[in-house]
Amino acid sequence: MTNFATRRRFFGNALATAGLLEASALAGTDTAHPVHADGEDYYDKLGVTKIINAAGTYTMFTASIMPPSVQAAVAKAAKHPVRLGELQKKAGEYLAKKLKCEGALVSAGAASALTLGTAACMTVGNRKAPELLPTEVSGLKNEVIVQKAHRYGYDHAMKNCGVRIVEVETPEEYERAFTERTVMTNFFNAAEQGQIGREDWIRVAHKHGVPCFNDAAADVPPISNLWNYTQMGFDLVTFSGGKGIRGPQNAGLLLGRKDLIEAAAWNNNPFDETVGRGMKVAKEQIIGMVAAVDWFLSQTDEGMDAEFRRRANRIAAGLKGIPTLTHEIHVPPVANHIPHLVIRYDPARVKKSPLEIAEILRTGSPAIELNPSTGRKSGTTGLPSDENTIVVGVWMLEPGEDLIVARRLHEVLSKAVA
Ligand SMILES: *Cc1c(COP(=O)(O)O)cnc(C)c1O
Repeated sequence: MTNFATRRRFFGNALATAGLLEASALAGTDTAHPVHADGEDYYDKLGVTKIINAAGTYTMFTASIMPPSVQAAVAKAAKHPVRLGELQKKAGEYLAKKLKCEGALVSAGAASALTLGTAACMTVGNRKAPELLPTEVSGLKNEVIVQKAHRYGYDHAMKNCGVRIVEVETPEEYERAFTERTVMTNFFNAAEQGQIGREDWIRVAHKHGVPCFNDAAADVPPISNLWNYTQMGFDLVTFSGGKGIRGPQNAGLLLGRKDLIEAAAWNNNPFDETVGRGMKVAKEQIIGMVAAVDWFLSQTDEGMDAEFRRRANRIAAGLKGIPTLTHEIHVPPVANHIPHLVIRYDPARVKKSPLEIAEILRTGSPAIELNPSTGRKSGTTGLPSDENTIVVGVWMLEPGEDLIVARRLHEVLSKAVA
């Protein structure tokens, strides 16, 4: 035993015996700095504005709030050190079983899962390959096939591995695009266009022995999507942990084939010479991800849909009497597939534009963020919008906040009536 370990054991035993291991007892000895055992409000201390999230699971608005059971699991996990490798492995095994797939890994979000999944396809069966990424990949397969309509900002998560993206449009181009360098295909699950559907995409790739990744980051509910795409034949699928599942924002799920999940783990921390070394998920967030999946599986699609419609209708009811105002409830087809409240009015009668309304709410008290489609010529994925449309994302509101949003919208809109 090392000297350090001996000493730690000694002090640990001594402290435990003395009953001094209570954090409050230890911290309480420092009288110059008062300690809030139940946690100080560091947002207040730092002067960070707390917002009401009437937008949705957007990264810039910190995505979601973890449900109380998940927050409690995170707090509990913070109390004990564990072996990171064992935690990663056992969390993955638990998730794979719950989500009906061969293997699972908790990544640092969906973008991280896309990087680790790409690295897995490049290095599967070659334990020495991870250290070659991203700059020495000429000896590895390094081409990823993607439909032109599926190109997006997250392509960069694949490029982090040193791959080249090969773009295709027609089924014929797709067939011809496979070479001995093809390592993976990527399918953007919520893409609004693209000539090739999921089944054909998988069938052709598998004919060439190439694995298919599906980025379904924002695509729950329905809950069953958590296994629909792996069961359809996608070799790797990702979901963001902090979006609809309401886990930690810096966590995500990489699900799929056992050999690929194993290879993804080689490319991840705690190993140093890997693309995933800087994508660490701390023990608290690994546990938070697992607890969030448990929470999400305890919900029902019908229950969530009904609750979000109730909120949308409560807000709409609060806007009665605003002249020319109409509303509808809109459910986007794939990503963010939950009821949103869409509000329109005649700008000749209500003389503030949706963008101006959004700004007043953003800078008001309490600060409210509306969906970023508000007042935009075209909405974010799957949402209708034009310059005269307000979009309220209701699903990330905390209990009671729908009434605050209704009150503030009513105040601001009624003031603008000519
Ligand atoms: C949000 C999103 C991501 C990134 O998810 P993170 O968990 O924030 O990394 C990736 N792909 C798509 C399609 C997304 O919507």
